[in-house]
Amino acid sequence: MKALVYNGPFDVSVQEVPDARVEQPNDALVRITTTNICGSDLHMYEGRTAVEQGKVLGHENMGIVEEVGPGVTRIKVGDRVSVPFNIACGTCRNCREGWTSFCTRTNPTEGMDGAAYGYANMGPYDGGQAEYLRVPFADTNLLRLPPGTEHERDFTMLSDIFPTGWHGTELARQRPGDRVVVFGAGPVGLMAAHSALIRGAAQVFVVDQQADRLALAASIGATPIDFTDADPVEQVLDATDGRGADCGVEAVGYQAHDHTGQEHPELVLDNLIKAVRTTGGIGVVGVYVPEDPDAATEGAKEGRIGFDYGTFFTKGQHMGTGQAPVLRYNRQLRDLIITGRANPSFLVSHELGLDDAPDAYRHFDKRDEGWTKVLLHPGQKAATGS
Ligand code: NAD
Ligand code: ZN
Ligand code: ZN
Repeated sequence: MKALVYNGPFDVSVQEVPDARVEQPNDALVRITTTNICGSDLHMYEGRTAVEQGKVLGHENMGIVEEVGPGVTRIKVGDRVSVPFNIACGTCRNCREGWTSFCTRTNPTEGMDGAAYGYANMGPYDGGQAEYLRVPFADTNLLRLPPGTEHERDFTMLSDIFPTGWHGTELARQRPGDRVVVFGAGPVGLMAAHSALIRGAAQVFVVDQQADRLALAASIGATPIDFTDADPVEQVLDATDGRGADCGVEAVGYQAHDHTGQEHPELVLDNLIKAVRTTGGIGVVGVYVPEDPDAATEGAKEGRIGFDYGTFFTKGQHMGTGQAPVLRYNRQLRDLIITGRANPSFLVSHELGLDDAPDAYRHFDKRDEGWTKVLLHPGQKAATGS
């Protein structure tokens, strides 16, 4: 089958690889109809992780079940499904408590709980930027979707970024009527803003410097804040009578940078602590890592992010972190899409064939104007033939 393979930093290509197949009794084989490129893929693309050469990337997958193992009873061949990016066993302590993003059984890496498709340190599983994907524990993991092709562009957000954005607001313990500040207007930040509005926020501020992404935030009714205009903290305080937002979401991650592009891994955490009021919550879904040899500060090379913990404590704030447990939210978010209450596809900028993926990685990595979210359809011919 054809798949998008990681060869090394800034080098991915579409190659023939061995077919994905049912390997265990609880596996399903999914024919991919849509798979997205994610900001998380860029951590690997830019060589900022220890991902192995030859890995098939892609953790935002949906498609049609092609085959199931003998142990699969709920999911049937022909079902249209969304595949959560987390690979969960469904029976370990963390899975049973709803933390499928920290499954204790699916990741054999020493000291790591939680597995994912096509991802550094998240187990030996190949990704779905390919024609087919092997899904372990299919009855546990797969979310059934209505048959047909309706809402494909919305449903494809259920594998990761819509639940992840929602999780950010949940970790921040957002309540109806809250004023919410979201740092990062990438796909995850835009989904956090969409979620916050659905959850009844009084106002949502979205901070970034990318004009096209800020325009998308404004298009759904959020208040864009361009951090190149003035200090984003001052802008939020000015708009909230000096008190700050009620809660905030971090949707940037460890490559947070200033307007020149210089990385400051503590910058967004510091800004959130200042821009959120006393006792407010901060949901951190942007990724931070224990090892980052190319980090801008000595501490951050070993995961030590020097943010203003003193002010955080003094303000009595709370923080939640980590990969999102997609299964906890995806069923309800699917139904919000079906009833028309949610339409996460507003951020889609490109729909391409798999052969276009290397080119799309280049554009998305440079945050080129207009490249907000790329969907790949492995069954579709390349648009550019690159
Ligand atoms: P992205 O890289 O496309 O978006 C990040 C945005 O942050 C960019 O638009 C960038 O301009 C902006 N930014 C950079 N520095 C900033 C600053 N100082 N202030 C405000 N904005 C700033 O990525 P994405 O796909 O939106 O993902 C965002 C983060 O979420 C990444 O770290 C990704 O790995 C992570 N993620 C986490 C989960 C999870 O389960 N926790 C799931 C998916 C993605
Ligand atoms: Zn993702
Ligand atoms: Zn588990």
